[in-house]
Amino acid sequence: MNFKEIIEGVYREVKDIDDRGKLASYIPELAQVNPKRFGIHLSTVDNYQFGVGHYTERFSIQSISKVLALTLAYKIKNQRIWKRVGIEPSGTSFNSLVQLEADKGIPRNPFINAGAMVIADILITHLKNPKKDFIAFVRSLSNNPSIDYSETVAASEKSVGYRNVALCNFIKSFGNIENHPQVVLDFYFDLCSIEMNCQELSETFLFLAHDGKTLSGTPVLTNHQTKRINALMQTCGFYDESGEFAFKVGLPGKSGVGGGIIAINPDRYTIAVWSPRLNAKGNSYKGVRVLEKFTKKTESSIF
Ligand code: GLN
Repeated sequence: MNFKEIIEGVYREVKDIDDRGKLASYIPELAQVNPKRFGIHLSTVDNYQFGVGHYTERFSIQSISKVLALTLAYKIKNQRIWKRVGIEPSGTSFNSLVQLEADKGIPRNPFINAGAMVIADILITHLKNPKKDFIAFVRSLSNNPSIDYSETVAASEKSVGYRNVALCNFIKSFGNIENHPQVVLDFYFDLCSIEMNCQELSETFLFLAHDGKTLSGTPVLTNHQTKRINALMQTCGFYDESGEFAFKVGLPGKSGVGGGIIAINPDRYTIAVWSPRLNAKGNSYKGVRVLEKFTKKTESSIF
């Protein structure tokens, strides 16, 4: 497979399309990002790497970090995690409040904000120093000690995070948050503020394409747990656009409002795309296009 040629071709085709997306301006710091940034990077399980465009420039990975938080919580609590958070697609936006009332404070899945807050709560209960321990875990996955939170982005989101504050308090009222909501929210905003570039993102997520092991062989999750995380990414990774993403792209993946998307092809590769303008569902407008063209040209969707 000539990945290089295909990725270069997709990059050229998508680069100058009319980008109808909008920056995530509800977080002031993300509204400052240059909307023309555009990068793609592929990492394969047999160690091939290729990137194009702004693939070495870091951006805010936002909700993509929810997969890494789930991974660590799953490692720690295994099956018990599913008592506190569901495994069904929500069919609602990532920050929706309505479903929580009907579901009595058990969020539909770990990738909507409500679900990620419950996961953050679990990590706070079980880690000695959640902020330090979590970033150490991410660095170990990526074998990259320079990956870090952005204090500026976390503070920016915190200054306007009214809806997330409401979500966390609402879940607490049902008894599904153990720690103080302020502590959970602070950690949640930190998780969302992690920065990576496309290359780092695709490298970090390789364990999900490699039966739960890093490329150097360090076990992160069991085979069974890995299958389940990929299944959740497939069904819930793009909020109320998850069905469409499966339909068009056909890979498990996860998006963030910083404009990043990571997609996994088990036993083969991970691919990261960054383009900051988002469609109405909060997923990168160009990012979805890139992945759709990529799996079509490579005939490498999981279906
Ligand atoms: N930090 C963002 C928020 O809570 C994450 C949302 C996302 O990336 N979809 O709104």
